[in-house]
Amino acid sequence: MANRLISLSCFILLLLLLSPPIASHQPEREEEEDTPITRFQTYLRFKTAHPNPNYSDPVCFLLNQARSIGVQARTIEYVPGKPVLLLTWTGSRPDLPSILFNSHLDSVPVEPDKWAHPPFAAVRTPDGRIFARGAQDDKCIGLQYLEAIRNLREVHDFKPIRTVHVSYVPDEEIGGLDGAAKFFSSKEFEELNVGFAMDEGQASPSDEFRVFYADRSPWHVILRATGVPGHGSRMYDNSAMENLMKSIEMMTQFREVQFDVVKRGRAANSEVISVNPVYLKAGIPSANGFAMNIQPSEAEVGFDIRLPPTVDPELVRKRIAEEWAPASRNMTYQVLLSSFG
Ligand SMILES: [Zn+2]
Repeated sequence: MANRLISLSCFILLLLLLSPPIASHQPEREEEEDTPITRFQTYLRFKTAHPNPNYSDPVCFLLNQARSIGVQARTIEYVPGKPVLLLTWTGSRPDLPSILFNSHLDSVPVEPDKWAHPPFAAVRTPDGRIFARGAQDDKCIGLQYLEAIRNLREVHDFKPIRTVHVSYVPDEEIGGLDGAAKFFSSKEFEELNVGFAMDEGQASPSDEFRVFYADRSPWHVILRATGVPGHGSRMYDNSAMENLMKSIEMMTQFREVQFDVVKRGRAANSEVISVNPVYLKAGIPSANGFAMNIQPSEAEVGFDIRLPPTVDPELVRKRIAEEWAPASRNMTYQVLLSSFG
């Protein structure tokens, strides 16, 4: 049923894509020959940002691209509305372990009013830059897989020895539980007999591509402080805010030490522990903001911490427990081992 719905909406999408552009509607679009660049722009125009990513339309587009190249394509829905798209280019020795190239369909949220160009218009400026949410992370990768296969087949008449699969998964930006996690533990995945896989890396502005063979572990760390509430005019020890601020100061110092190593050129960004505050939560709400004369009894801060593979996670956990969130300062903490970047 889901597949039939996707096929129907694919057909409608194809009609829309083939229909002539309405002149008044997007004056900035120079429509548009069918080239790798314009195909990339089409892929970028699907609104795939969380919290409500559109999966069906980009999947239709990619299905049609796969068909135009002549590779097999199918969608699998482990969770309704969250399709995994799988392309297969059969090699001359399909009995050998296959090669898998993966990318994700979704994008991180966007604040449209802060953008110079609408984030899903994929505007191309005269200097050749294309502006769109998800362009680097990671629609450029998903499209490059297709364009590489198209080029190898159509220009070079190349046929791989091993079978090549290309997967497009949903929900990577929110943990991948309904996407990659279900796909990689499925019988369909097992049947692919994957011997080597490549996932997203970083976009490259030139023809050189860096290959990463390890990644940092994301830790989402929440520190909570409690303390006696009091009037804003009084100074006393152990308020929640004071306890939390001490932690933030220590973490800021640790961050500076790590970052200094990078600034002095002694390590890459990815080789030190990165520590970045991402939210602060405290205060007593009032009609026009926050009560300015009350010291609250609770305060909380969230950090995004990334551990390189060379770091002992137990040492970091100990540092959090003993220095950054000690029970002696009325602090508790939570480490969410995130599966997503
Ligand atoms: Zn990504």
